Amino acid sequence: MQNVIGMKIIKYIFIVLLFIVLFAGIAMGAFIYKAKFGFNSYETTPHTLDAKYGDKSILLLSKTNGFRHGEAIDVSLPIFNDIAESNDWNLYATDDAGVFNADQLKLFDLVIFNNATGKVLNPDQRKLFRDYILDGGGFLGIHGAGDDSHQWEWYTDTLIGARFSHHPIKYHIQEGILNKEMHIDSSHSFNVELTPSFSIKDEWYVFYESPRRTGANILYTLDEADLDWNGALGPFYKEKDFGMGDDHPVVWYKNVGSGRSLYSAMGHDKQSWSSALHKKVIEEGMRWAGGFD
Ligand SMILES: [Zn+2]
Repeated sequence: MQNVIGMKIIKYIFIVLLFIVLFAGIAMGAFIYKAKFGFNSYETTPHTLDAKYGDKSILLLSKTNGFRHGEAIDVSLPIFNDIAESNDWNLYATDDAGVFNADQLKLFDLVIFNNATGKVLNPDQRKLFRDYILDGGGFLGIHGAGDDSHQWEWYTDTLIGARFSHHPIKYHIQEGILNKEMHIDSSHSFNVELTPSFSIKDEWYVFYESPRRTGANILYTLDEADLDWNGALGPFYKEKDFGMGDDHPVVWYKNVGSGRSLYSAMGHDKQSWSSALHKKVIEEGMRWAGGFD
C-alpha cells in the first residue's frame, strides 16, 4: 500500500516537473523569438499634430515590436524633452508609426529610433523613410535600434552600417572606457563640445565588423581591456564569446544620400542614462543629425 502511494507521489512530482520544464522552454522560446524577429504590428492612421512641427522638429519613436527596453525608454523620454527644450527644438514623442506618412514625416528634421526594435514600419512606411533620409532627413539610432531584430537590409547595412552579433550575458552590465576620435574639421562641435574620454556602465553590443569599414566616421570607441564578451544564453549561442578587438566603435556617424545618420550603442538601462557625459553625446548627436548646427 505504501509502495503504491509512494509511486503516485513520484508520478505527480514527475508531471509537475515536466510542466515546469515545458513552460520554461516555451517562455524562453517566445523571448528569443521576440528578441530576434519581433511580434510585428503596424499603424497607418495619421496623427493629429500641433502646428509648431515643421520648424526644428524631432520625431522620437520608441516603438518596440521586438525586445522592449522599458526602463531605458521611460527614463530617456524626459531627457530628450529637456534637451529639446533647452535648444528650442520641437520634440514629438510617440510609439505609434502612423506618423510615417507622406504629409507628416516631412515636417521633421530628425527621426530618432529610441530603442525601437523589430519591424516597426510596414513596406510603404519603409520606402517613405528611406526616401526621407536620401532626400536630406536625419536619423539617430539608440542602442536597440542597432540590434538584429529589424529585418531590413538597407536599414542595417546602410543606415546603421554594422551587423549586430551579441552582447555579453555572463557579465551583462560592465563599466567601459570610451575614447573619442577627432573629426577632421577642428572646429566641429564633436571636437569642441564632447569629452575626449569617459567611463560608463552599459550593456556593450558586439558587431560583426567595424562600421569604419563601410565608411562611417567613428566618434567613440570602447577599450575592450578587462571586459568579458561571453554572450552564451544558457545552452544557446555558445559560440558568442568574442569582442571586436582594437576597433570597437560605440558611436558613429555618416552621410547617407543627402541625409545624416548617427548611431549610439549606449542606452540599455537607467544607469547608462544617468551619465551626464552620455546625455551630452546624445545632445550633440541630435544637433548634428538634425542639421541644427
Ligand atoms: Zn539592451
